[in-house]
Amino acid sequence: MNPAHVLQRHAIGTPMQDLLRATREQEGGAVFGPEKVPTAALPRPLLDFDGVSLEYATDQQVVRATHRVSLSVFEAERYVLLGPSGCGKSTLLKAAAGFIAPREGQIRLDGQAITGPGPDRIVVFQEFDQLPPWKTVLGNVMFPLRATGRLARAEALERAHAVLEQVGLADFANAYPHQLSGGMKQRVAIARALAMQPRVLLMDEPFASLDALTRRRMQEELLALWETVRFTLLFVTHSIEEALVVGSRIGVLSPHPGRLRAEIQAHEFGLGSSGGPAFQAATQRIHGLLFGPETPHP
Ligand code: ADP
Ligand code: MG
Repeated sequence: MNPAHVLQRHAIGTPMQDLLRATREQEGGAVFGPEKVPTAALPRPLLDFDGVSLEYATDQQVVRATHRVSLSVFEAERYVLLGPSGCGKSTLLKAAAGFIAPREGQIRLDGQAITGPGPDRIVVFQEFDQLPPWKTVLGNVMFPLRATGRLARAEALERAHAVLEQVGLADFANAYPHQLSGGMKQRVAIARALAMQPRVLLMDEPFASLDALTRRRMQEELLALWETVRFTLLFVTHSIEEALVVGSRIGVLSPHPGRLRAEIQAHEFGLGSSGGPAFQAATQRIHGLLFGPETPHP
């Protein structure tokens, strides 16, 4: 798919995004503190962090990873958690996946408190060589459907074919991972996750270890895929540029322990806009939020 074309369509946004943007524009700007988020006029969030403090207890001490983080992710959003290393991004994602319970506050999916892992939240890992090499693309996508006992063989086969069609890999159903490019392997990994029909896809710095060109191609692939499937994404990164490109909205976290400093609208930005004046201005603004003095909200 032509990325410029994809990005053009991105600029239009979903009705939900348009509503969010309209509400925010009334608030007089794209950046505002968490206390000003105008939630009253919005539909119920899909994934809701409500005053979430997360801690690790070691033998000697308790480490607070995040402090009272409140944010809401809506259906079909690409919400990015952005913050410096060690600010608790991965911990927030693990808590959303249900691997860690909040010390304080609650995380809700569709209004229900999350109490453990579940197939409604799937984590896509960093290494796209996570695909067993001895299984075909089809076999890889079918595997979790069968292993979790969710579907009988015939249904799993049907679901896998449908998802591969959706992500543009129908012609590669019988290929093996080593025959695919990095981007295609990523698509298979995401297809495998989407086949489970999760409510939210969770990605933790998936492109962090890649060279700049591959990283860009992966971002392009991810956006193109979102354009067709419109899944809900919670994506973690410490790169401002990546946050602006990938995200429709960005939650900016303070250094350790992570608090939500601001939320930024980002769906006017895409791969085509990086380097442009608006993009530069947004980058500067976020840089100030991340590394400048505390923002003055209480
Ligand atoms: P990020 O993903 O933003 O880099 P993390 O969520 O990994 O940050 O970590 C947040 C904080 O929690 C850091 O200070 C880190 O040292 C601490 N931490 C992470 N994992 C553990 C653990 N298993 N035990 C103790 N402390 C941890
Ligand atoms: Mg991390």
